[in-house]
Amino acid sequence: MDSGIKFTVLSLFPDVINAYFSASIAAKALERGLIRYRSLNIRDFALDKHKTCDDAPYGGGAGMVLLAAPLARALEAAGVRKKNTGNHIPENSFCNENGRIKTVYLSPSGTPFDQNKAAEFARCKELVLICGRYEGIDKRIVDLYVDEEISIGDYVLSSGEIAALAVIDAVHRLIAGVITRESLDEESFTGGLLEYPQWTRPEIFDTMNVPEVLLSGHHERIRRSRLEWRVEKTMLNRPDLLDKGIKTGLFDKETVDIIKKMRETQKGVSYE
Ligand code: SAM
Repeated sequence: MDSGIKFTVLSLFPDVINAYFSASIAAKALERGLIRYRSLNIRDFALDKHKTCDDAPYGGGAGMVLLAAPLARALEAAGVRKKNTGNHIPENSFCNENGRIKTVYLSPSGTPFDQNKAAEFARCKELVLICGRYEGIDKRIVDLYVDEEISIGDYVLSSGEIAALAVIDAVHRLIAGVITRESLDEESFTGGLLEYPQWTRPEIFDTMNVPEVLLSGHHERIRRSRLEWRVEKTMLNRPDLLDKGIKTGLFDKETVDIIKKMRETQKGVSYE
């Protein structure tokens, strides 16, 4: 079967990456040939007898910095070429051309990762992800090889593996066939809203009932209630998404009317 996307991860801790791909949806997607991956240990590309991968920063200061040379060798071994010399994608382009590789450095000082970026990455043939460690990597690697620096949030992790896996996880589930289309349709961020709350059996738990509408079997009422719940949840937790959706004309009239009514009345929706 044709593979949708290949993930190549450069890391000092490839076991962390390998463990992810050995379980759950990712393992199944691998088995079915929907995705491919390889992890490269940066240390394997250090040539000295101690396999040195880091050194002190020029100018002084705390911590260590990942050396440029082992990383450059690992990138070249992964098939990445220096910018403007071969398979490099022009800046700001989506990586939707066959055979093209997009190289990403995970960094807290990168641009924020979100669902739109995940969808953009899902169009790549191959994503090469560089996991930093210590104080980060030598800037010349970014200048020579990296297309995008990506942050998964405004906090600092000890190394890039968890960030790379967050990106991989968000991207791989968008690849055709990995999960069902319906699961993606009303997910959080789809259409600019968060997802509606969910309930499952039993009907009564700790004296709390499942909303009657969900038991009614009335598809139109269920659809309407879920839309109202999505709007309410977004209003409470992420009002910025509502503002953005209104500003960019993302919402249909029904959604805009619900937002207006809720804002005017300052009243939530019913969960009866
Ligand atoms: N000195 C860096 C700074 O202040 O920006 C932090 C380096 S951090 C301790 C080590 C590595 O973890 C980074 O090189 C990066 O690969 C990864 N990392 C940490 N936080 C991250 C985040 N929020 N998003 C993506 N990668 C992150």
